[in-house]
Amino acid sequence: MNDKNIHDSWDRDHLWHPYTSTIDPLPTYKVDSADGVRLRLADGRTLIDGMASWWCVIHGYNNPRINKAATDQISKMSHVMFGGLTHEPAITLGKMLLEVAPPSMNNIFYADSGSVAVEVAMKMAIQAAVAMSGNAEKTNFVTIRSGYHGDTWNAMSVCDPVTGMHSIFGSSLPVRYFVPQPRSRFDGEWNPDDILPLADLLEKEASGIAALILEPVVQGAGGMWFYHPQYLVEAVALCRRYGVLVIFDEIATGFFRTGKFFAWEHAGVEPDIMCIGKGLTAGYMTMSAVLTTRAVADAISRSEAGVMMHGPTFMGNPLACAVAVESLRMLREHDTASRVAHISKKIKELLAPAAELDNVADVRVLGAIGVIEMKEPVNVAEFQKKCTDRGIWVRPFGRNVYIMPPYIISDDDLSTLVSNMIECVRV
Ligand code: PMP
Repeated sequence: MNDKNIHDSWDRDHLWHPYTSTIDPLPTYKVDSADGVRLRLADGRTLIDGMASWWCVIHGYNNPRINKAATDQISKMSHVMFGGLTHEPAITLGKMLLEVAPPSMNNIFYADSGSVAVEVAMKMAIQAAVAMSGNAEKTNFVTIRSGYHGDTWNAMSVCDPVTGMHSIFGSSLPVRYFVPQPRSRFDGEWNPDDILPLADLLEKEASGIAALILEPVVQGAGGMWFYHPQYLVEAVALCRRYGVLVIFDEIATGFFRTGKFFAWEHAGVEPDIMCIGKGLTAGYMTMSAVLTTRAVADAISRSEAGVMMHGPTFMGNPLACAVAVESLRMLREHDTASRVAHISKKIKELLAPAAELDNVADVRVLGAIGVIEMKEPVNVAEFQKKCTDRGIWVRPFGRNVYIMPPYIISDDDLSTLVSNMIECVRV
């Protein structure tokens, strides 16, 4: 292996990567190109990608259909402002999204990234909750511990206060209400005690709370935990009773990652506001959307401001919309639910031996997500060296080693990916 090509020293000295030190950064691996489920490194090696570039690349890299949709759109227009203008890609995408969204969704706000979608959703909730209640103090949020909603200011405020960055930013972060994470497993028995802390809190504090925000069923970056859908059923019922809006952050869980088009379908209860992102553009570019009901949208329009107070420069970017439209068409044509069910079954079989290892605390699989929870935190640099030496790309976080591969992965590649991941965990 030619290490010099793989670990670029200029990059190391000048470019920040996610959550890294400038003095002692984690190694980065230089990628020349990517195709299907494979990343090609600068030294010519290829790696099977287990991460789908953090949940996004659902159809694989360098997909001919999406490439064509992008180049066709570029030849018409890459971007045009959304203030006062509109275009077919935004309209087509909106129609397609409403076909697959919870039935009560009616209005769509296109935003730039997952974190911005969460900011928009929280602003939406405050504007609507204040207007609906006539109470100007109904501006706070409640969430469950171990959640993750992004790195911008308000999104960060509802991330887990311990694994998130609350201590670093201290009193400059808004203070939210946190209730314990539901401990009933997705595939286990529902324990009704799980909902009691939320019931207690809402009974006391609902008048100051605009919305409950949570990731339905799968808590991603906050711990890769899969909880019982009954929690959502009970939580939504409580929120309705106490006049608190519900925001589902489906940024990671959307587009069949959990086996359903969106994770709310596991519980059958709808939110008032829903954030989507990541897989929306199949990993081609950054874009997100916030969907809401007519009741929420109209409450904002009847409020003092009279408008939704947000309007990013790249809102409704035509290129991103065109790519998202093509990705949605492919999801529809390919019977993605069956594809993900197959991947899920395979990951379950292949990961089973990991449960026997002494250093493993838990193994869990839902949809096209497989998690090995270790007893101790994983050394990322060492682990990734082992993975790349074995031809796979897996990036652990905390005690979790996990995969969420592109849906086009073959059985052989999945088997190579998982068996090598287990070997890396073993030694
Ligand atoms: N919400 C959830 C559930 C996420 O998983 C993420 C990204 N990991 C975000 C929000 C933030 O999205 P972005 O990184 O695109 O800002």
